[in-house]
Amino acid sequence: MRDLKQKILLKGKIPIRLIDEPYCKKCMNIVGQNQEFCGFCIEPPPGGIEWYFNKIIALGHYFTYKNKPYLNIPYNILSRMILILKGDVKKQKPKVGEFLAEGLWEIIQENPFLIKDAKYILIPPKNDPSQENQCSFILKPLLEILKKENINLKDISDSVIKTRNTKENKLLPRDERFINVRGSHEINLENLKGNNVLVLEDVVTTGATTWDISRALIEKYAGEINILSLGRTLFESDIVLFKHELNFNELLIYFSNLDIILELEKIQKVNINSYQLTEEEINWSSEDYEIKIDYLNKQIKHNCNNYLIRRYKNKCFCKHLIKLFIRIKEDYGESSAYEYLNSIYSNLLNWKFIQA
Ligand SMILES: [Zn+2]
Ligand SMILES: [Zn+2]
Repeated sequence: MRDLKQKILLKGKIPIRLIDEPYCKKCMNIVGQNQEFCGFCIEPPPGGIEWYFNKIIALGHYFTYKNKPYLNIPYNILSRMILILKGDVKKQKPKVGEFLAEGLWEIIQENPFLIKDAKYILIPPKNDPSQENQCSFILKPLLEILKKENINLKDISDSVIKTRNTKENKLLPRDERFINVRGSHEINLENLKGNNVLVLEDVVTTGATTWDISRALIEKYAGEINILSLGRTLFESDIVLFKHELNFNELLIYFSNLDIILELEKIQKVNINSYQLTEEEINWSSEDYEIKIDYLNKQIKHNCNNYLIRRYKNKCFCKHLIKLFIRIKEDYGESSAYEYLNSIYSNLLNWKFIQA
């Protein structure tokens, strides 16, 4: 078991666990002790002759559980944030992007080669250019931070063109991802004159997309290309390697879908009068709503609109559920509230979030 110990706090508020060594020095895949590169990076990619880019550096691990009939259930706080950027609720995206850009800036400071002699920065294009690009929510605040630090990178994202539609890569096995994406990008610029390029990604899984963009950049005489990503996909078989424990505060951030940071006022306004708490159950009801958390049958029942329309779908909490656990902390102490909350988190795939 590996302990994930290293954390950074985004704007002093949101804890993100960094990827601890040992990891592949090229792509941050998990490797064994004393192994420099992972099995994938010791040879060129499938159907390719070289990798074209130098390194992938990521802020943390990305993983979601597929747990039908629910949507993807994020494995950690970073995955929760990436899902917000990918999701269809627009409201929180700029704020979440700002927090994440802070984290990327810390990573850049720890890995100065990422921007050394770099002149250009870009985000990968979507198949359909009119589609919202989730990476733009991190690019904008990151560029602002860099500018303040007197680092001026030119954004050439608009010059990266997709020459054909590619199938959704996440549905394909690894080798096919490379074949699918090969030759699908073009850089609409004359000559990059040996200048270095930073590619900004939300998630890197196989590296196929960034590999093909790098190929296109090299064809236009780019210098060294490095990839900075929010998430490095953790493979399902590696999940068991990690002891992933969250403290009470982290659990609140995770379960509230970051509302405890972004929508604290709404949570504070919720009035939880009396509730009943036993070892097996927590019950609360008001005129309009009720909550029943059943620890024996591992079920959460609730009935507010937000919970019914969205929240239950990837097993997160609405303001009522969050406020209830804050009340339990106030009334019974943090360690007790933690036990109740963590017993849901540590067994999350077996819990059912259902309508009251
Ligand atoms: Zn690797
Ligand atoms: Zn609710």
